[in-house]
Amino acid sequence: MGSPVSIDTSGLRNLTDPALKRIVAKLETGERLDRDDGLAVLTSQDLIGVGRLANAVKEMRSGPYAFFVLNRQINPTNICVISCKFCDFAAKAGDDDAYEMTMSEILEKVREPIHEVHLVGGLHPTWPFEYYEEMLRAIRRANPAVQIKAFTAVEIEFFSKIAKIPVEDVLNRLVSAGLDTMPGGGAEVFSDRVHDELYREKMGAEQWLEIHRVAHSKGIRTNATLLYGHIETHEERVEHLMLLRNLQDETGGFLSFIPLEFQLGYTNLVVRQASALDGLKTIAASRLLLDNFPHIKAYWVMLGEETASMALQWGADDLDGTIGEEKIAHAALASSPLGMTAHKMLKLMREAGRVPVQRDARYRALTLFPPPPAPTHWSQRGARDVTAMIPSKIDPMIADTGGVSLENEELYSWDLAGISPEELAARGTLLHGDTLASYDAAGASLPTVPPALAESEASR
Ligand code: SF4
Repeated sequence: MGSPVSIDTSGLRNLTDPALKRIVAKLETGERLDRDDGLAVLTSQDLIGVGRLANAVKEMRSGPYAFFVLNRQINPTNICVISCKFCDFAAKAGDDDAYEMTMSEILEKVREPIHEVHLVGGLHPTWPFEYYEEMLRAIRRANPAVQIKAFTAVEIEFFSKIAKIPVEDVLNRLVSAGLDTMPGGGAEVFSDRVHDELYREKMGAEQWLEIHRVAHSKGIRTNATLLYGHIETHEERVEHLMLLRNLQDETGGFLSFIPLEFQLGYTNLVVRQASALDGLKTIAASRLLLDNFPHIKAYWVMLGEETASMALQWGADDLDGTIGEEKIAHAALASSPLGMTAHKMLKLMREAGRVPVQRDARYRALTLFPPPPAPTHWSQRGARDVTAMIPSKIDPMIADTGGVSLENEELYSWDLAGISPEELAARGTLLHGDTLASYDAAGASLPTVPPALAESEASR
């Protein structure tokens, strides 16, 4: 991995919260932040100060860039043998809302111009392990270029049980079938108290960390999550981050950390969803404590588009992907759209003052989208040019979606921090026209409105 450029703390000297000042001093001397620092960020009243601190670290690591992937999320079934109290997605076989996708329904979703398939689902009572291997092989055959990010640590352990083979063998066989990377779900909160209260049938912290340790030892890059905003305390959030940091020190195998905001759904676990304020502070605390994680993601599906866009100034540098049709958070009544067009992704990033870079599942940089030319008012142009001006007059942020291909450069996200957008553009190959149009056209038939919202609109 490329080494980050040095941190610029010159704009942070006038912070007023003494706890944040202490963090600035530590960043300047290179001293590692501790639990108290994490708690100070989560409880600080200085939201702007917290953002400036985390942003300084973000910019040291990834410069002005923000990353996204053209992907499809596929949840092959919601039938699950266990019942976590926070989960609105799972169903039992025979329930009205239980579903199983056929192989051809799964493959329909991967024949599009995407770079990543994100594949996770319920723990199905009768599907054999071989069926999951075949799923990966079939996806690989249908779209040989796509990278497959599949199966949480919880699913890996379940496969080990049903196939009666060690986790090592499960991972070896999945890699042979086409697995590239692993998602970070199933971690929930690394706290015995929360585990016993909400998901006692499922693995706890130790097992989750061990499966990721084994995956890293095999060269499988993985991601990590935290489910926050329910019954967990700030101390438990911080402990979760420290345990992830320890494992990353040991293996270096994590690519990104994704704080997942709990969606209330029908669970009645808490009376109110976490606020945008809490979401931004959690992103910032993650960026500051996880000093060895390349990326912090703002998962727009759960944060909502606006907070996710803001989070790109509070320490996050990745918005995940376009997704296509998300089912898990929307089963819990998330109000975000089911998927996002690539054009909208660029808009969210540019509104946050970031330079979008399209990546693959392993964070190889694929396409740079330089800032569009500044719009000029129609009156400054000749009458004949008015028609040509219309798209950029409507929305200059999305009118220019030409890009610069970096595919010949073998650059990864962590190599970009010290390279300016201008230098980067000069190294790549100019792609004429709208490079994202075919992706958005392929996804145009997918539903975009969450079912709950569609229902309430229909009944109006
Ligand atoms: S969170 Fe996962 S393991 Fe738990 S009930 Fe839902 S689908 Fe099943």
